[in-house]
Amino acid sequence: MSERMSVIQGDITHAEVDVIVNAANSSLLGGGGVDGAIHRAAGPALLAACKVIRQQQGECPPGHAVITEAGNIPVKAVIHAVGPVWQGGENHEAELLEQTYRNCLDLAAANGYRTIAFPAISTGAYAFPKELAAKIAVDTVYRYIGLRPLPEQVVFVCFDDENTRIYQQLLAQL
Ligand code: ADP
Repeated sequence: MSERMSVIQGDITHAEVDVIVNAANSSLLGGGGVDGAIHRAAGPALLAACKVIRQQQGECPPGHAVITEAGNIPVKAVIHAVGPVWQGGENHEAELLEQTYRNCLDLAAANGYRTIAFPAISTGAYAFPKELAAKIAVDTVYRYIGLRPLPEQVVFVCFDDENTRIYQQLLAQL
């Protein structure tokens, strides 16, 4: 078990970290699932910040991420990451999910953030198989932090029992 990685079950808007990751969609303009929960908790300032980025950069493609303020959520920033939609596994879904996690870690580190919380990106509406998504998340983070000082702590926030069990097992094997 890496001391720099942990899993908790709950709502990511309550995570006590420097930065939380949102599983956004390419529009960056809000959606359901964790995206909806984050926008509800953050209030309108978050959507306004996303709209500015959207106007500047256009849509955010799968694998990419952008960073904004956090509105009313008591963290320093929100990273909006667009995971891949599962289309059967032959469309670079695994690579894109790995890239999504790496881009989030890069953004956190570049901003000097020490602690980051991830949801199980792509495992809700985007239908990525949970076991595979968790393995990619845990392996990518483990490799990344093994080479770098930041982020110091990575928390996987699982909403459902199945993801919680899967992540607990994977972290126990490290
Ligand atoms: P995606 O479109 O990337 O699949 P979803 O928001 O539909 O994004 O689901 C991603 C994961 O986030 C799912 O495992 C879902 O159970 C979980 N989730 C939903 N609400 C929350 C929340 N408030 N905090 C943390 N995780 C959440």
